[in-house]
Amino acid sequence: MFDLKQYINEITNIVGLDGVLTDNKKQYETDWRNRYNNPCLAVIFPSTIEQISAILKLSSTHKVGIVPQGGNTSLCGASVPNDSGSPQIILNLRRLDKIINIDINNQSITVEAGCTLDKVIEYAKTNGLYFPLCIASSGSCQIGGNIATNAGGIHVIRYGMMQNLVLGLEVCLPDGSIVNQLQSLRKNNTFFDLKQLFIGSEGTLGVITKATLKLYQQPESYFTAMCGVNDLSTACLLLNSLNKYYNLCAFEIINPLTQEIHNKHFHPMGVTASWVILFEIETNSEFSLEDLVNKLGEFAINLDNLILASNENERQNLWHVRENIPLAEKMEGVAVKHDISLPISNIGDFIKTNESNILKHFPDAQIIIFGHLGDGNLHYNIQFKNIDYNKLQNIESMINNIVYTDVYKYNGSFSAEHGVGVLKKDWLSKYYDSRSYQLALSLKKLLDPNNILNPKKVF
Ligand SMILES: Cc1cc2nc3c(=O)[nH]c(=O)nc-3n(C[C@H](O)[C@H](O)[C@H](O)COP(=O)(O)OP(=O)(O)OC[C@H]3O[C@@H](n4cnc5c(N)ncnc54)[C@H](O)[C@@H]3O)c2cc1C
Repeated sequence: MFDLKQYINEITNIVGLDGVLTDNKKQYETDWRNRYNNPCLAVIFPSTIEQISAILKLSSTHKVGIVPQGGNTSLCGASVPNDSGSPQIILNLRRLDKIINIDINNQSITVEAGCTLDKVIEYAKTNGLYFPLCIASSGSCQIGGNIATNAGGIHVIRYGMMQNLVLGLEVCLPDGSIVNQLQSLRKNNTFFDLKQLFIGSEGTLGVITKATLKLYQQPESYFTAMCGVNDLSTACLLLNSLNKYYNLCAFEIINPLTQEIHNKHFHPMGVTASWVILFEIETNSEFSLEDLVNKLGEFAINLDNLILASNENERQNLWHVRENIPLAEKMEGVAVKHDISLPISNIGDFIKTNESNILKHFPDAQIIIFGHLGDGNLHYNIQFKNIDYNKLQNIESMINNIVYTDVYKYNGSFSAEHGVGVLKKDWLSKYYDSRSYQLALSLKKLLDPNNILNPKKVF
């Protein structure tokens, strides 16, 4: 018989009184979007790997669910308790925040999983190096969370997703044992690359405790610009051309409705077009602005409808536009949000087909499209004026169905960078290859036979 009091006492013995929170837990139990909120027994703040190992072992014995939590910035409800009513604790990693070492010659850094992304970026910078993961939640999200979600962001086009930035991992399994894959090699074909199993596993297979990450040379300088093109095929041609001639590190698109909403709530972005493009290249002393402007001219870009950032301040102003879009969207009303990816060459056809299918069923719908064209990743949100959140929930599933049917028709995916969590779990069985799903389930059962890690998430 499970004795709650005894369990909490034993946990308290492991982490100390100040490492256990049993009251005022709401902020940890509620997700970023305020969509999920379920109670847990306690929020636990371990400060060592040994403590994590002991907590996992104890919780396996008592079959208490564990929700690993980093910065709690998940956009799909993955980092808060589920609604099963069965006993769960939140394992918050924020005290595990030491930088263990930086190896300048090897261009790598080893950190504990609870370090915020900003802390790692800053530490690398003060040592003359660069960690390229760039997402708007970087002040709160943690490296462990970034790895568990295989985070993306605006620099994927040049540096890849988180999985491309991880050299080594240390992971604590549900039975308390520790898998040590913490190495800093760029080449290592000794046996299976087991660390990959945990990258993107959304806290369902193990608790990531340490990571060794790849660093790069700090770019000398950037050149950032905003311009407009008439259609998506021109945007794709421009993308390929910039990729060919420059170190392109970001290429974002914004549709007219998104421009309109942004400009209503914030200082107007200054460029208006069928598609506004915000791009950034890493430059050095050989960079010629004249060459770039000539290149842009080849794509019928109206030079009066072009903003070039000539200093860091202007560069930040352009990026604020991109950062303000989700805020403007929120101010405008509620939306059914999608984080989809498609082969870049299919994006134009997908949008044309899907816009028409959505409007056929929902003539009042407005489609907000912005995102990372360079990675084929769109934030594709269906918004309605004068409708509240409850009404929206009634039609959410139907809207998702229309969007995802077309996404898969054009060989895409319903989750580009935010993961599956609880929000998208029902779509897995429909769209994920069934043999692959069975294989993933076998791995889950092998590593977590008592199903204690993030129960009812993803699987
Ligand atoms: C404003 C904003 C902008 C965002 N922009 C982007 C973006 O551009 N690209 C992008 O990819 N995402 C983005 N996100 C989503 C989110 O920030 C990322 O998914 C991030 O990687 C989550 O990190 P976290 O530490 O907050 O993890 P949490 O939200 O705390 O957890 C996320 C998942 O990881 C698991 N987890 C957390 N830590 C560990 C650990 N140590 N071991 C095992 N499992 C763990 C949790 O159980 C959960 O399943 C954004 C979110 C916000 C709020």
